[in-house]
Amino acid sequence: MAKYICTVCGYEYDKKFGDPDNGIEEGTSFEEIPEDWVCPTCGVGKEDFEEDFYGDDEEDE
Ligand SMILES: [Zn+2]
Repeated sequence: MAKYICTVCGYEYDKKFGDPDNGIEEGTSFEEIPEDWVCPTCGVGKEDFEEDFYGDDEEDE
């Protein structure tokens, strides 16, 4: 559950990096992101993101 993909534009949210430009610190899991966060590229909400199972390295913290 390390990465989530925007289904609209393909932006990839990676917990390792967070989204510091929008106040999301690195290490923040997708579930912990505030509900009002939007895709930094296209502006859709979290509901339009899908978990990226491909490449999941079983990281479980
Ligand atoms: Zn997007």
